[in-house]
Amino acid sequence: MPLRPETASDLLIDGKLTPGSGGVFDVVNPATEEVIGQAAEATAADMDAAIAAARTAFDTTEWSRDHAFRARCLRQLRDALLAHADEFRELTIAEVGCPSFLTHGPQFEGPVTDLGYFADLAESYEWSRDLGEARPMGIKNHRELRSEAVGVVGAITPWNFPHQINFAKIGPALAAGCTVVLKPAPDTPWCAALVGKVVAEETDLPPGVLNIVTSTDHRLGEQLSTDPRVDLVSFTGSTATGKKVMAAASESLKKVFLELGGKSAFIVLDDADVGSACAMAAFNVVTHAGQGCAITTRLVVPRPRLDEAITGTRDALAGLPPGDPTSSGTICGPLISERQRQRVESYIELAKQEGGTIEIGGGRPADKPNGFFVEPTLISGLDNSARVAQEEIFGPVLVIIAHDGDDDAIRIANDSPYGLSGMVYGTDEDRINKVVNGVRTGTMGVNGGIWYSADVPFGGYKQSGIGREMGVAGFEEYLETKAVARPA
Ligand code: NAD
Repeated sequence: MPLRPETASDLLIDGKLTPGSGGVFDVVNPATEEVIGQAAEATAADMDAAIAAARTAFDTTEWSRDHAFRARCLRQLRDALLAHADEFRELTIAEVGCPSFLTHGPQFEGPVTDLGYFADLAESYEWSRDLGEARPMGIKNHRELRSEAVGVVGAITPWNFPHQINFAKIGPALAAGCTVVLKPAPDTPWCAALVGKVVAEETDLPPGVLNIVTSTDHRLGEQLSTDPRVDLVSFTGSTATGKKVMAAASESLKKVFLELGGKSAFIVLDDADVGSACAMAAFNVVTHAGQGCAITTRLVVPRPRLDEAITGTRDALAGLPPGDPTSSGTICGPLISERQRQRVESYIELAKQEGGTIEIGGGRPADKPNGFFVEPTLISGLDNSARVAQEEIFGPVLVIIAHDGDDDAIRIANDSPYGLSGMVYGTDEDRINKVVNGVRTGTMGVNGGIWYSADVPFGGYKQSGIGREMGVAGFEEYLETKAVARPA
């Protein structure tokens, strides 16, 4: 079955590919600004049907108890998706504007391959644990703990790494025995809809186990958050929306799992190789045009070496211009939409108003009249209290800040509402460890270390979220614990 854009305009509800009741909406290629096709426009009635299907599949089938069957379905889905890798790659680059090289990793192959990790977990997880005997109130009892699926999961996802985030929810939720309604972002419906097509036509996933509802209407996300038939909302997106999801979910007191924004610090200690640190910081911030929640967007360098760091970073950014995402050499593609580009540009303007200096970039690349491109940009001359150092910009924009020693660097890193990720460059292990221990974030890299992997839980401290995605911890987010006791 070839996957073509015109085949991505259906919803997946109760195992069937169905048109959206609201018609279709346009899908735009962010690198060309061309309309490249349509996706299904779901309505509240479609979402209602999807939630009903997920509820029925959870309540009336053996899906949640048949661990081996789920593992088989997940491996089957992985293999079917990988068999279409080239088609997915092409459509993902066209829809997301992500550089081609990333589709070999987190923008497709990585998370699809990781379905195998969650299939293995479904089989190997200790679903029941013997707690032995105890004498509560003087009566001898034998106790056991059982892990059970939470139930129906509403998965709400953003556009920046659609496959990574969709599968980081679908994989563990299905492996745990939940059923899922996925609502992807309006900017990237195809990445999800094509998965729906593969599920319907090439796998044995029972009807209702995975439902996919594309729409431009954010209220469908709200519907997932409020509907009492949904047991857990797994949300990735901005902190502002995450707060709304949490508030909406409180009415039915459903569980919430939130992966939100970040403003991570890249700390360079005074014994580090400043040149290679700045080159890595520049590479990080331009990757996928800075549209990553865990990208380090504050470069915190020793004050005596500030000028050297500015020069090194500026030179590195000059070598990483925005390019055509279909080209294998491109690291920095376009932003997802004109709306996002204007948002990024407004932050660059704000930096100037706040007294910052634009060391490089700051505008649109002259050689790219089409596409939502922004030049890689370095801002200096501000301290950590500036709004561009405090707020998430979500573009290829790096703010360089001077620190006055290791403790000050830790203080600056933590002077943020967020706590998602970070990086430290240095030589002395004790000093590096002090920074790793001191920075309050869910992940930290050391000297360019990459933590991203299926078995590594990812998530944030503070306003970067609640809970962990991926790894055993990410799988357990989708489980309830039941204690069972009987007289011994
Ligand atoms: P967003 O918050 O605008 O939208 C995310 C999703 O929420 C979309 O599917 C949207 O339709 C839906 N939505 C919007 N309003 C809603 C509401 N009131 N109730 C329920 N759902 C609603 O985010 P975005 O602009 O698509 O993505 C960028 C943001 O995502 C950035 O802030 C980024 O840091 C964050 N992000 C976080 C992680 C992480 O793992 N921590 C990963 C990627 C992106």
